[in-house]
Amino acid sequence: MFCSRCGSRLDPTSRFCSSCGAPIASGPSSSPPPPPPFAADNLFRPRNNRMIAGVCAAFALRYGWDLNLVRIVTALICLSGAGALAYLIAWIIIPEEPYAVPTNPI
Ligand SMILES: [Zn+2]
Repeated sequence: MFCSRCGSRLDPTSRFCSSCGAPIASGPSSSPPPPPPFAADNLFRPRNNRMIAGVCAAFALRYGWDLNLVRIVTALICLSGAGALAYLIAWIIIPEEPYAVPTNPI
């Protein structure tokens, strides 16, 4: 490994650079943090164009699916029984679309 400040070769066991004295970043803290297992960014329930809770519209908007197709598939899954619970969970998990802040032209 090499010093990130002066570029001189470093002893892996040392905590400071022997040439410039810069602290050597080592260990798990130097690596970037792993992404969260479930990133729900850009997934929200729109306030308009919703039928029940906007869950179908949320997935259709997020993944570019056809809204009517998503609704038909969701209705079929809900009729089978377990889908209704999944819909309720998605209703709770997916946040509502934030209110659009009106821009003042003046
Ligand atoms: Zn150095």
